[in-house]
Amino acid sequence: MTMGQSRRRKSGRAPWRGARWLALWALAWLSGGWLAAAAQEATPPPDVAMPVETGEFRPSELVEIIQLDPSIKLDIRYATPNNFVGRPVYAEARAFLQRPAAEALTRAHQWLKAQGYGIVVFDGYRPWRVTKLFWDLTPPDKRDYVADPAKGSLHNRGCAVDVSLFDLKTGELVTMPSEYDEMSERAHPDYAGGEAEQRRRRDLLRSAMERFGFKVYRYEWWHFDHKDWRQYRVQDTPFSEIPPLPTPLPSAQSPSPSGAQPQP
Ligand SMILES: [Zn+2]
Repeated sequence: MTMGQSRRRKSGRAPWRGARWLALWALAWLSGGWLAAAAQEATPPPDVAMPVETGEFRPSELVEIIQLDPSIKLDIRYATPNNFVGRPVYAEARAFLQRPAAEALTRAHQWLKAQGYGIVVFDGYRPWRVTKLFWDLTPPDKRDYVADPAKGSLHNRGCAVDVSLFDLKTGELVTMPSEYDEMSERAHPDYAGGEAEQRRRRDLLRSAMERFGFKVYRYEWWHFDHKDWRQYRVQDTPFSEIPPLPTPLPSAQSPSPSGAQPQP
């Protein structure tokens, strides 16, 4: 993935620049090194802030998926270099969803067992700053595959999950018409190419998820939005600060209002 802005002119450095840097260095020294630290991190000023959301929302109740059902497999690509960014963006290989979505996912997983498959989770709740990072690193012509941080992602609400199937007999991840996070037509849930068996498994995953209240994203066979997503805010809480589950979990169902369009 190209990041842009990596090439800058190395020659033709004007003498005034040296003077300016000297002045900056002096200022940094005077201000206790803050400027130096900021320059080291090369952090651009924030151009997009977290969306400000008004209205009624349910309190967040993020649940660690494998606490609900340890037979669901995790393959948290964003905690490894094996993702489209090429480096880990999560410090911990964990997956969370808001409780109604987590419970629905476990029901889809149990339903799939009768078909010889189980669910593998690539990603669930995603802190907002990671969505912002993905947007910044994705070329404009590929931004159908990432969420606009100005609106926030359904992953930021804890109501979207990226999943595939594993074979119950072998425990291995199955192949699908595309790789996870592949930004191509092969990722579309209606893509007609590839092997028939791959398409059958993709469609089986979709029917399992849709049976339990999820909807597939039109550009990604692996991305599913839970019907209750409008009830939860965008948030930026790191995994390490998510409170552990109370046990046993109370059960609740609630209606889903309608409104804005989902973001992947
Ligand atoms: Zn997703």
